[in-house]
Amino acid sequence: MLCSIGWQGRGYSPEFTENMNAIVHGRLRADPQTPVVFTVMADSICGPCPSRRGMGCTADDRIGRLDRRHAAALGIRSGQRMTWAEAQARAAARLQPEDLGRICNGCQWLDLGLCQTALAKLQQTG
Ligand code: SF4
Repeated sequence: MLCSIGWQGRGYSPEFTENMNAIVHGRLRADPQTPVVFTVMADSICGPCPSRRGMGCTADDRIGRLDRRHAAALGIRSGQRMTWAEAQARAAARLQPEDLGRICNGCQWLDLGLCQTALAKLQQTG
């Protein structure tokens, strides 16, 4: 959820970036009523990621820690469904941009500040 809110086109490979652009720009941002399902397994975003191995990931330990912190902060359980609009509203209501320093600790994109800026903008625009 948070990574899609903050997405600015920097991915793990050209194929990953193309797929993430199609999901985030082509579906979520194009129609906020798009239904989404959250999962702890590899998902449609992970499909072409060079780190994906089947339904898992070569960085399972680190990604698992990030997933668990995000899920706890957002009150999300695996298998939960909602619209993208509801997901954005949940993130805006439950988190402050500075919270990402804690829950995203270990992510290579954290220090760029893109995700904190995107969350702040979401809160300003509602
Ligand atoms: S800093 Fe990393 S883990 Fe946190 S929302 Fe951004 S991309 Fe996702």
